[in-house]
Amino acid sequence: MRQKVRKTMLIISFIIFPVTIWYFSPYLIIQAASEHIINGSFIVFIAMLVFSVFFGRVWCGYLCPAGGIQECMALCNDKSAKQQKRDRIKLVIWAVWITGVTVTFILGKNDVRVNPFYMTDHGISVSEISNYMIYYGVVFLLVIPCLIHGKRASCHYICWMAPFMMIGSGIGRKFKIPQLHIRANKDLCIGCKRCNKACPMGLDVKQMVEEEKNHKCSECIQCGACVDECPKKVLEYAFRWED
Ligand code: SF4
Ligand code: SF4
Repeated sequence: MRQKVRKTMLIISFIIFPVTIWYFSPYLIIQAASEHIINGSFIVFIAMLVFSVFFGRVWCGYLCPAGGIQECMALCNDKSAKQQKRDRIKLVIWAVWITGVTVTFILGKNDVRVNPFYMTDHGISVSEISNYMIYYGVVFLLVIPCLIHGKRASCHYICWMAPFMMIGSGIGRKFKIPQLHIRANKDLCIGCKRCNKACPMGLDVKQMVEEEKNHKCSECIQCGACVDECPKKVLEYAFRWED
């Protein structure tokens, strides 16, 4: 039941993506920075970072429109993209991009202003037919890795939003701030690997259970698929860290 609700939430988020897309735009934040404007995507990215200190990457698992697109792509390619070295590509993209945003903001003109609805039409992102070209371009960009590498490949390799949440959840973990995470009781595990099959991020959940590392995995999106699939109740959601 929980997974049905989760997938429905993701698909709804994808359906309304034409309304919200500018609030996740890696380009508009730079354009706004050049005018010294703190725009919608600037605010959303900072909110993601703060949110993830307490809730990890639950945004990716339950609410992200890009996640919704990728859940739909499972209809075409149902295998899961695996965690591997190329996951670091997104961190390199992010570092270059954030440097660009920062430099642009420093060099920007005018007084600093806040405009959450920058470049939207009464808050709506795609309000003209011509803007659908950009919209479909972004959707295409997110879809192609999933078709080639499998489910959630874009989360692994190219997502510009994931690093905000990896940093935020890392801060929460380091300072033991109460944070939503997956806790495992390895003594109950029978090694059936049903959790591995269920994981949309293609993570080796069983291995993490053995090594007691589930709570440390920065690619875990806290979707709870492994929690719901495990026949022995090895895994559970937790909020407070064990001593
Ligand atoms: S490890 Fe579990 S909670 Fe994390 S992404 Fe995989 S299935 Fe979801
Ligand atoms: S589904 Fe549960 S019992 Fe099976 S390997 Fe995963 S954690 Fe262990």
